[in-house]
Amino acid sequence: MDFEYGEQAESFRAELRSWLEANLDPDWRRHVDAVESEASEDLLTNAWMKEWSRKLYEAGFKGIHWPAEYGGRGLSLLEQIVFAEEMFRADAPPVGNFLAETLVGPTIIHWGTDEQKKRFLEPILSGDELWCQGFSEPDAGSDLAGLQTRAVLDGDEWVITGQKVWTTLGHIADHCFLLARTDPDAPRHKGISYLLVPMKQDGVTVRPLTQMSRIAEFNEVFFDEARCPAGNVVGGVNNGWKVAMTTLGFERGSSVTTQALRFRRELDGFIDTAKERIGSDGRPKSEDPIVRQQLARAYTMVHIMKAQAYRSLTALIETGDPGPGGSINKIFWSEYHRWVTEVGMSLRGLEGQLVGPDYGLDAGQVSYLFAKSETIWGGTAEIQRNIVGERILGLPREPKVG
Ligand SMILES: Cc1cc2nc3c(=O)[nH]c(=O)nc-3n(C[C@H](O)[C@H](O)[C@H](O)COP(=O)(O)OP(=O)(O)OC[C@H]3O[C@@H](n4cnc5c(N)ncnc54)[C@H](O)[C@@H]3O)c2cc1C
Repeated sequence: MDFEYGEQAESFRAELRSWLEANLDPDWRRHVDAVESEASEDLLTNAWMKEWSRKLYEAGFKGIHWPAEYGGRGLSLLEQIVFAEEMFRADAPPVGNFLAETLVGPTIIHWGTDEQKKRFLEPILSGDELWCQGFSEPDAGSDLAGLQTRAVLDGDEWVITGQKVWTTLGHIADHCFLLARTDPDAPRHKGISYLLVPMKQDGVTVRPLTQMSRIAEFNEVFFDEARCPAGNVVGGVNNGWKVAMTTLGFERGSSVTTQALRFRRELDGFIDTAKERIGSDGRPKSEDPIVRQQLARAYTMVHIMKAQAYRSLTALIETGDPGPGGSINKIFWSEYHRWVTEVGMSLRGLEGQLVGPDYGLDAGQVSYLFAKSETIWGGTAEIQRNIVGERILGLPREPKVG
């Protein structure tokens, strides 16, 4: 395994680092703290966030791995990873349009028509248009091919009817990349199309779902004869399953090395808490042997994640796909994070359970609550175990019911 990133990646790192030093408002947290106490939608629609997105775009730091002809930097995946690492190192704010830049943008580059590329790619990079992902439905989550939303061609438009759920950012998105059944008589995986649908139209109703972290970042979305142009089908009519698998592949590769960095920083915070808080025996919790074992275990797990991240990165660079090993990573980090945030909360003791006025939560509390969802989104831990069992261990396929 080669741990060096090479000359090109390191010179890109130096360029970005000095740009961030010169251009990142050191006071940026003030903006985010002000809006975090409200809802996440403010964080994303906030004029300052849009300004940040545009600033990055104009300096050539958006779409690092996108081809230059579509407004990207035309660099390799390694520089894309370096970008994420340096943004993290500088504690820079997120770019805000994650679903667009990481999922639908690369999918349009791979499968889209020239017209689709011309219409949709530039506003994704500039951050001017936000997107949401309309895959899951009340009866189609893990079993995505069970989706029931229908699209029927009416002249030069698709007419869409059905319900989506857990639609992250649906309430502020300009467009939705969604899966709809376009041939109800075809086998389940065959009669599906991948459509690009405007959200701001009669016929689309969005109902935000408030989570226990108080943030309402995802939604139920109802399509009642909503419309999009016939040309907004990506990758051909009834070919949507294949296109969706391309999108999900991008989801799995996106945060491969920054995850371990993020968890390491969080763990340092837990270690500080253990040193500061006094246990019932009157000594710092960091002297409690159980706590020490928990922290040592967490430290070891973060190191395993780092090594595993480099392994996945190598597979991604060589084959463009983290492979079924991506499922091992997903199980490992999501279950680690549920556990370690519980450790973090127990170190805080009863104080960790106090909320501020109007159910105001601090960052540690939000992380603890949000970690519960991490074994669900992007493929549940159970589904990942099925993948590991069948594709890595060669166990018999799970019996399909119905
Ligand atoms: C924070 C968050 C954000 C999300 N954002 C989006 C989004 O933007 N767009 C979108 O389309 N979706 C989104 N989702 C939905 C997400 O993809 C689904 O929640 C996920 O795929 C699981 O589907 P489900 O909730 O319908 O659960 P189900 O599939 O109904 O599963 C219920 C339980 O049964 C288990 N189970 C199901 N099938 C099997 C099996 N074959 N073997 C063993 N166990 C099984 C599951 O593991 C789970 O524990 C989001 C979810 C979350 C939590």
